[in-house]
Amino acid sequence: MSIIPKPTGDIYTRNCISCKPIDQEEAERTIFTTPRSRVVLRTDDQSWPGRCIVVPRKHTNSFKQMSKEDRDDVYQCREKISLAYTNLFGMIRDNWLELGNLTVDHEGNKTTDEKYFHIHYHIIPRYNKPVEYLGLTFNDTQFAKALNIDPASGHKKVVITREQIIQMRDEIQEELIKQGLISEENLRDTRPSQKIIDLCKRRQKEQPQSHFWLLTGVAGVVVAALGVLTLTRMRSHL
Ligand SMILES: [Zn+2]
Repeated sequence: MSIIPKPTGDIYTRNCISCKPIDQEEAERTIFTTPRSRVVLRTDDQSWPGRCIVVPRKHTNSFKQMSKEDRDDVYQCREKISLAYTNLFGMIRDNWLELGNLTVDHEGNKTTDEKYFHIHYHIIPRYNKPVEYLGLTFNDTQFAKALNIDPASGHKKVVITREQIIQMRDEIQEELIKQGLISEENLRDTRPSQKIIDLCKRRQKEQPQSHFWLLTGVAGVVVAALGVLTLTRMRSHL
């Protein structure tokens, strides 16, 4: 059996780990979703706090096969994560890796099915100073050096607990909501906490109000400007 990926189709996606239905564990570490993508925290290595992946919902195994809409969507997800992490963790920049081409599984066994041929993007947030978070100190020891995530290189993985992952996920969601980057519909498939749902509802109620005050402010400035203009014209006629 060939290990070369073939075009999409049911027969090729039934074993795919990214196409399988989302279970509770995955929902708990899902930060947000869109109709086209999911953004999910990694559990195997959080040495860069917030490390996550953006997974298009459609089973596609190359960038060439992706629609423009899917490409745009993954970049919009990246932008939202970037804005949240900059504020929340002090992220300096993100490394963006396109993967989905494993020919051996995580135990080193050759895979002959479509298990890993689903394009996805890793976001590795980079930090130029230690990040104090969850009672831990995260050091980006490879900052400004060639990135190597292979443990054989000496890279030490940091595995945090499921509770810590959920706490991190909640706080990222909170930041995204505060910045107005996600709304309730983006929490689909993420099983958000009650606190996050309440925050989202509160924020949505505040939104029209803030628009009202913004419009009132703009209207005030326009009226004042017109007043000054009229006065200036009147004076020039005197
Ligand atoms: Zn898939």
